Order: sequence, then C-alpha cells, then structure tokens
Amino acid sequence: MIDEDEIVLQLADPPDCARCGGAGLLSARFSHSWKNARGKEVPGIREATLCPVCDRGEPTADRLLTFFAVHEALDSSELEAFNSLAAAWVAVARARQVNQQQLDNEYERCRNGDL
Ligand SMILES: [Zn+2]
Repeated sequence: MIDEDEIVLQLADPPDCARCGGAGLLSARFSHSWKNARGKEVPGIREATLCPVCDRGEPTADRLLTFFAVHEALDSSELEAFNSLAAAWVAVARARQVNQQQLDNEYERCRNGDL
C-alpha cells in the first residue's frame, strides 16, 4: 500500500506510453482514491508515463523533457532539481487522471439512470 503522498518513480526501463505506444522516458506510480457510485472511497494506484511525444506542450512535462535532454545520466547533485520537476509533473498527471475518473463515473451514472 502506497501512502497518500508517496510517489514511486521508475527511471530504468519505464513502460511504453499508453497513448501512442512509443517508448516512455519515466513512469510514476501514485496512490489515487476515488468514490464509487455508492459514495464509498476506493483506494487505488495509478501510473503515469512521461512520453516525449504526447506530453510535449504541457509546461511541467516540457521542463522534465528538457532536463532529460540536457542530463543523459542523473548525477546525485541534480537529484534535487530532478525530484522537484518530477513532483510537479506528477501533480499535473494526477489531477488529469482524477478528472478523467470523474468523467467516467458520471458517464456510468448517466448510463445507470442515476443522473
Ligand atoms: Zn505517447
């Protein structure tokens, strides 16, 4: 079980982008809970992959992509800068996925005649 604010970053061999199938640069796993149709809190874990194609244009992703372009290997002196860039990107990815989840929930409720 991952804590509320714990984010697990995977730099080595990250999964492919779920959107375009291209190679991902970095993946992050974070806890993500949502309320189901009965209003019960459902804990879950989500994963986001940083993709140089799909994520381009999003400011926090752009900064991370630039960081990767400049630093091919992650030096310990750059770890702090990297962590804060990654945290900003994860916050955006997290918010985006929550919105999608809410849309999905509303769609389900619509179909079930609850709305
Ligand atoms: Zn992609």
